[in-house]
Amino acid sequence: MTQSLYRLVYYSRNHISSDDGMFAANVDDILAKSRSNNVRDQITGALLFNAGCFAQVLEGPLENVEAAFERIQQDDRHGDVSLLALDPISHRSFPNWAMGFVGTSDVDAERFTGVATASGFDPSHLSGDQIHTLLRDLTIEEEAAA
Ligand code: FAD
Repeated sequence: MTQSLYRLVYYSRNHISSDDGMFAANVDDILAKSRSNNVRDQITGALLFNAGCFAQVLEGPLENVEAAFERIQQDDRHGDVSLLALDPISHRSFPNWAMGFVGTSDVDAERFTGVATASGFDPSHLSGDQIHTLLRDLTIEEEAAA
């Protein structure tokens, strides 16, 4: 039987040093681990970094999404992890992304500016739906550019 799909959206505060090399190396580690775990767990989604915050969408079978979120909450590379949404969905928004990463390129920053001006560029002031739409649009643009 096909398992029901759920979408989880959260944001958190970065605890990784803002030193460019240190930050990039840590994000590379997070993405490598995320992508291997998420393929195993049938999870897809995307991760945004902007203004000192992470925002992430995870979609997949409920049990696997909840287990991933449990591990993510324990991770001291970020903190103040705040759940914004956990809802059933009929289809995936990120079918081709074990974990996309957006927000650091100039193009992404420009796009983010358009959406987030009202939030003071702070993902913590965006709703789960707004973060989902922003990440979906950014990953669609990345796919088109690839
Ligand atoms: P292992 O990789 O064996 O790690 C064991 C423990 O060590 C875990 O508690 C882990 O948190 C910790 N750890 C490992 N490396 C470091 C390090 N460099 N610094 C500090 N602690 C470390 N995981 C996913 O599976 N899917 C995701 O989509 C995902 N997204 C993430 C997004 C963000 C913003 C962050 C910060 C982390 C994310 N992670 C994700 C990583 C997650 O927090 C766990 O580290 C990972 O799932 C643990 O994998 P593992 O059980 O295979 O343990």
